Amino acid sequence: MKINRLSKSKYLSGLQCHKRLWLEIHKPELAPPPPPGEQRIFDQGTKVGELATEEFPDGVLIEADYLNIPEAVKQTEEALDNSVDVIFEGCFIFENVLVRPDIILRNDLGSWNMIEVKSSTGVKEVNIHDVAVQTWVLRGSGLEVKRVFLKHINRDCVYPDLSNLFRTDDITEPVNAVLPAIPKKLSEYKSMLDKSEPNVSIGEHCSNPYDCQFSDYCWKDVPEHSIFTIPRLRWSVKERLIERNKITINDLSAEFPLNENQQKYIKSLEGKKPIVDRNGIKGELDKLEYPLHFLDFETDGPAIPRFDGLHPYEQFPFQYSCHILDQKGNLEHKEYLQETESDPRKSLIESLVAAIGDKGSVIAYNAGFEKGVMNKLAQWCPEYSEQLKSIIGRLWDQLVIFRKYYTDYRFKGSNSLKKVLPVMVPSMSYENLDVSDGIEAQVTWNEMIQLPDGGEKSKLI
Ligand code: SF4
Repeated sequence: MKINRLSKSKYLSGLQCHKRLWLEIHKPELAPPPPPGEQRIFDQGTKVGELATEEFPDGVLIEADYLNIPEAVKQTEEALDNSVDVIFEGCFIFENVLVRPDIILRNDLGSWNMIEVKSSTGVKEVNIHDVAVQTWVLRGSGLEVKRVFLKHINRDCVYPDLSNLFRTDDITEPVNAVLPAIPKKLSEYKSMLDKSEPNVSIGEHCSNPYDCQFSDYCWKDVPEHSIFTIPRLRWSVKERLIERNKITINDLSAEFPLNENQQKYIKSLEGKKPIVDRNGIKGELDKLEYPLHFLDFETDGPAIPRFDGLHPYEQFPFQYSCHILDQKGNLEHKEYLQETESDPRKSLIESLVAAIGDKGSVIAYNAGFEKGVMNKLAQWCPEYSEQLKSIIGRLWDQLVIFRKYYTDYRFKGSNSLKKVLPVMVPSMSYENLDVSDGIEAQVTWNEMIQLPDGGEKSKLI
């Protein structure tokens, strides 16, 4: 098969893993559909990109999209010939590599600067390579690119003042440092792509810097219990074991160094039963005071904050659920869900402090999260600080039980509720839920609050 062209994202895929690039080109059908949160990240990136260009009101957007590359190239050439000073998403091809830089700016002496916009909050190594390949193509296309920048989200920004939403870092030096390696990498990719599927081991690179979409395919032969389900085994250790083709638990020698929790997992696996410290659990349960409140928040934290006092990506709750169990076994449910686009925090707090009152333990799974949410709420709305601190003081973390006193090999080395619940309560599973995790909850909530009242909104509520 003849490969005509590589895009910037394909170049970065190749940097992560040759096999990933090969599969993207030759067997893209092996990748499952993207998860629901991905579209939101994409949409958020688009919004951030649009905001970033507002600084340049005279900029010209190259309208033709990826489906019409010849037209995009033509529009870019026209913009360059017409002395346009700022071009958004120009289209450049050099040595069969296609890039569309977010912003290029003409300098007084005819040279250019380039700005790449990212929704992240700092400069990562992958951004340097991303900008480097674009710089290489632009220079190869005849543009004298002087300086290159990464414009990214600034966490110090506080709504409603979005004037400092972005920070722009000059990354010319690190980009120049990696440029010379690009031609060699491209020729490696091209010869690799002309051959059959490369043999690349699984490893940390499957999720670093990005989660690879082919992990179901590449990881399919990894057994259910393996070195990857040993709790908190470091990647450097796993990589060494992979190299020696020791992936199953049976491959490990008796002397293999394991900490106490890791040993408990192996013991549970070998005995095919949980290891339970009943006294430890009793000690934790004895701390509980009725009525018991089982609390959970759903939160959102968009890149572009939209409520007073919020920083980019700062989480705020839009929903809570609280089941209340009294000593006689009566169970009651209280909840709050913000149904409009306005700020949910005050109404949610009012409902929450009324639901929980001033007596009884507040049970959460991984309570550090609930604690963090309520500490933030107390900062934003200090008039409720006392009640919120009282709730925080009564938090009781169910995760402690599974972290310290209850090990079951069927949790597969994790203590997350998603792994623990289906084992402990087989009738309950996340799989059949319409909204099955926090990311889906965020996506669904953002969709719901924008809808007018009616059937579709009610369904999402
Ligand atoms: S899952 Fe891992 S080994 Fe397979 S293509 Fe992706 S990065 Fe490469």
